[in-house]
Amino acid sequence: MRSFSRIITRRLVFAYGTLASSTIIGSYINANEQKHQSILKSIVRSFSDALMGNQESSMVSSPFGYDPFVSLSKNNFSDEEFERCFRYFDSLKQGTWTREDFHRFLNALFSNKQRPYCILSDLVEQYFRETDFNQDEKIDFDEFLQAWKKPVKCAVKPISALVIVDVQNDFISGTLALHSCPANQQGEEVVPIINRVLHDVKFDVVAYTYDWHPANHISFYENRFLRATAPESPVTAEKARVLDMIIFIGSNDLAKRIEQILWPAHCVQQSQGAELHRDLVRHENAIHVYKGTNPEIDSYSAFWDNMKLSKTTLDDQLRERFVTDVYVVGLATDVCVASTAMHAIENNYRTALVEDACRGVNEKEIECKRTVLTKNGCIFVESNVLPGMVSGEDRRPEMARRMFVENLKSIGRYKTSLTS
Ligand SMILES: [Zn+2]
Repeated sequence: MRSFSRIITRRLVFAYGTLASSTIIGSYINANEQKHQSILKSIVRSFSDALMGNQESSMVSSPFGYDPFVSLSKNNFSDEEFERCFRYFDSLKQGTWTREDFHRFLNALFSNKQRPYCILSDLVEQYFRETDFNQDEKIDFDEFLQAWKKPVKCAVKPISALVIVDVQNDFISGTLALHSCPANQQGEEVVPIINRVLHDVKFDVVAYTYDWHPANHISFYENRFLRATAPESPVTAEKARVLDMIIFIGSNDLAKRIEQILWPAHCVQQSQGAELHRDLVRHENAIHVYKGTNPEIDSYSAFWDNMKLSKTTLDDQLRERFVTDVYVVGLATDVCVASTAMHAIENNYRTALVEDACRGVNEKEIECKRTVLTKNGCIFVESNVLPGMVSGEDRRPEMARRMFVENLKSIGRYKTSLTS
């Protein structure tokens, strides 16, 4: 399926993303490539052991006979439990953490089934400096609590939502079928993968999104003569072809100009093409979100329209349910999936895009969006790691980074030097 050059490009982008997000190599493993994976694993293990001074066993078995993070979550993250957790890593019993204590804390927190992810020393140092508010080269309990209370809670006991984007007939076999798009991908392939995920993984919230357009929608190629084209538009309505970008003069109550890619008419409200694929499992008590309902503006993301002039109900509904983590799957990777993931990040959800459960329009665009999303803190995973991540057993350092920074911002301790 995937061309050799694409795999190479993906790996390069992968490597670039790794550098851009500065530092963590823990989970950058493509689960589909067994050989590659086992080599990487051994590298990660040796790195980890080296950094830990081979102290993993002493870290895992607690002197108090308990895992501080399990205990924390069982006791609803009470301040008393946070104190016990702090004491657990306080090797000198002086009420403060040294760098080594702090490093052991990070390794215990960011682990998978008690096997620590490697966190490179520059990130440990950065985290240490950002946590050490009074710059006395030690971490006291208050500093730990302020900086890490929220990130620890989210890592240990995430509240996870699966957002299933636009798995609708028109994108699979209808007017905008992905197999007819440049990437030549098969939208239908996501259905059994998403069904397996719904069966195997205990998500706290499941949301289905729908592209849901009125017949006179601005995005339809067939409607290109319904609106005036702006003088600066790269194409006129007469010369425009499908997938061209055109600029319309916006309606009075929205915007002066609206850039729009012209798609074949698709997902018209109430039509068969707008229905979810018949084999996609319908989860009980799911949220259903309809987007692109305003004829005058398109909406790729399930959170906001393309100009962020109006929002859907998705964010409010996730917040009502205290969601911390958003996993995005569906169609199409480089359009609605990527836009939804980007807005999830902007809304401060810890965000992952599940690559094998997505299919896209254009390979170059898919890579482009991947780079941008990675830089902004979205992580890319395969569906087989979801059970561990959603249960809080597999706690990835790169998933926590943005939450840590946002927490520091909210308490006014964030320094711009932290941005990657
Ligand atoms: Zn649409």
